[in-house]
Amino acid sequence: MTDDTATAAAPATAADEVQRLLRPDLRGRTPYGAPQLDVPVRLNTNENSYPVPQVVVDAVLAALADDVSALNRYPDREFTELRKALTAYLEKQSGVALTPEQLWAGNGSNEVLSHVVQAFGGHRRVALGFTPSYSMHPIITETLGTTWVDGLRSAATDPDAFDLTPDSAARQARQHDPAIVFLCSPNNPTGTALPFEVIGAVLEAAPNAIVVVDEAYAEFARPGTRSALTLLAEHPRLVVTRTMSKAFAFAGGRLGYLVAAPELVDALRLVRLPYHLSSPTQTIARVALEHADVMLGTVEVIKHQRDRIVERLAELGARPVASDSNFVLFGGLRDEKATWQALLDEGVLVRDMGIAHHLRVTAGDPHETTAFLEAMTRLAPTHVDSQEPTA
Ligand SMILES: *Cc1c(COP(=O)(O)O)cnc(C)c1O
Repeated sequence: MTDDTATAAAPATAADEVQRLLRPDLRGRTPYGAPQLDVPVRLNTNENSYPVPQVVVDAVLAALADDVSALNRYPDREFTELRKALTAYLEKQSGVALTPEQLWAGNGSNEVLSHVVQAFGGHRRVALGFTPSYSMHPIITETLGTTWVDGLRSAATDPDAFDLTPDSAARQARQHDPAIVFLCSPNNPTGTALPFEVIGAVLEAAPNAIVVVDEAYAEFARPGTRSALTLLAEHPRLVVTRTMSKAFAFAGGRLGYLVAAPELVDALRLVRLPYHLSSPTQTIARVALEHADVMLGTVEVIKHQRDRIVERLAELGARPVASDSNFVLFGGLRDEKATWQALLDEGVLVRDMGIAHHLRVTAGDPHETTAFLEAMTRLAPTHVDSQEPTA
């Protein structure tokens, strides 16, 4: 402040004060947040539309009853039982042999991602990702004081193509010598799994980097999609993150996890807050994992709805991107903001990812999916570009 009289005459508002005191690099930023609107059909955050099955509800409640009287104690800092349950689940799901020492968990995979950045990023270090991808990767990186570099997919030259080739990823990795590389496969918001060779190419081209493969949607991938878990044994710098928020229908439970070399996991203990996983969280997640078959019972239905969306949108001339996840990105819209609003007026909430002419829709249950497709059918004549769909 240079003008003291002005300050005295008009005291600074609380908002002004906060802006003045805030870390300079955070000033003017807007927080992450998809709208949580009360709309009949909510298809904007890739949640699983199906509630937790009653058999799991009963089992969780029974297990919690024992836990509550012990809440006077801190939880098991090492979440031993939960790690075993996660290990057993992943071994079965992926066919890869793992040990509990390779597992690490947090309150959502966003938290385990933040542990990786806290441990391996930092001042003057660079994290590289390939846009468009998960918007939390740059947000976590920058709020933790690491420099973010926006790498490019082919969309930079062709607005309807979002692929990333091994050559292009490796070239960009060499150029920036990052401390962390974020890959996302299947990629959010585009939906498609990466060519598997991208992972190896990046590990080779960025010898000083922790390479994170965010596999939040792995359980929805089309047959034959290989998981980065299969590379862990040979690569001590590789981290694979997963979550219970999507296929597992457990977003409210807040449990995400990663798999890496035990030594890398050990480094994360330097940065996590003490007792970061509450005992109810550990219990709820462990019991849900013990019922993995029931919890994942809706995955095939959802994949079918996803394929229905891709097929129907293509018929309508909107250009859907191939999807290995529980959502579909589609293009060919004249004005995505107008279509977003028109869908909302029809009671259907989808996601505007800030990609010109595109929107993203989550595959819901059959009823929700039908509501979305019927709304799109009504809107298509005025909202979808008349160009022929690309193959
Ligand atoms: C939804 C999502 C997550 C999950 O975050 P949680 O914190 O586990 O709920 C992580 N990565 C990607 C790419 C996602 O889309």
